[in-house]
Amino acid sequence: MNPLFKRYSRQMLFSGIGEDGQNRISSATILIIGCGALGTNLASQMVRAGVGTVKIVDRDYVEISNLQRQVLFDESDVDQQLPKAAAAVDKLKRINSDIRIESLIFDVTAKNIESMLSGVDLVLDATDNMETRYLINDACVKHGIPWIYGGVIGATGMTMDVIPGKSACLQCLSETPPAAGSMPTCETEGVLGGAPAVVASIQATEALKILVGHHPAGGELIHFDLWENEFNRFHVHRRPDCQACVKGQFSFLAGSGSTDVFSLCGRNAVQITSSDENRLDLQDLKKRLTRLGPVTDNGFFLTFKVDSYELMIFPDTRTIIKGTTDETVARDLFAKYVGT
Ligand SMILES: [Zn+2]
Repeated sequence: MNPLFKRYSRQMLFSGIGEDGQNRISSATILIIGCGALGTNLASQMVRAGVGTVKIVDRDYVEISNLQRQVLFDESDVDQQLPKAAAAVDKLKRINSDIRIESLIFDVTAKNIESMLSGVDLVLDATDNMETRYLINDACVKHGIPWIYGGVIGATGMTMDVIPGKSACLQCLSETPPAAGSMPTCETEGVLGGAPAVVASIQATEALKILVGHHPAGGELIHFDLWENEFNRFHVHRRPDCQACVKGQFSFLAGSGSTDVFSLCGRNAVQITSSDENRLDLQDLKKRLTRLGPVTDNGFFLTFKVDSYELMIFPDTRTIIKGTTDETVARDLFAKYVGT
């Protein structure tokens, strides 16, 4: 008997998967970008389904307001302010120890996204912003890797498969992302736990179809509103002059629109990353900062409190400064205390 049958019997008995499909799933590598409500739901389903290697990338840490919908986290993760990717992987390894699961604690940028795609068969979008989705679209179309868009707000959700070379891509749907700040976000409009669970379930099922070779056509946009019980799907056609999937011009990957300082929407916080590629010696920095105020170290980043601000400082210099939305104030604090 195939040794996979014991763990995955219910999935292998499903005619669309079978033994051959499970073998394909078990030898696949996927990358989940974002580990919030969509990412935790997706990671749980992909890990339980036995995808051979699951990589999860996220830049953020767990907060109490996440627990309402981000299914892999608990209060102890909040108390320790653990990075989401690390906290999720810790739980996931206890669910399935037969597969490889990796956490990547990074901000996904034009500089690093292509190296993250090496060896990856499929990308699942679980981000919370359009800028990153356009970056994913560029990188995946360029490298011919299928990716699955997912988005939620309030009680509504939307998803679309992008199969490079076959279906419409995100730029076929809309050439440019909406202006920053012009779109409602979960921070301003709220979100019900059911909406990301449904979007993630559609994405996870589409992912299994792609991995077993039961290719969905792609380019089908599914939209629903759980509050009004409305479910719709639309076919998105390839744009004959699409910059990305027809002309092969990847402007988002070229770095346009990326920035090293930006305000984190609705969070009263600013994120700064040093533009040179320094890495910090956190133990050294911890000694220095301890003389100036309380510092805690959770093994992933330092948290330093000064005046009414809180600085979360990561080894790659990325620093989340809580207590201000003013980028000038944040730059001053960064220069003074992180100083790279
Ligand atoms: Zn396109």
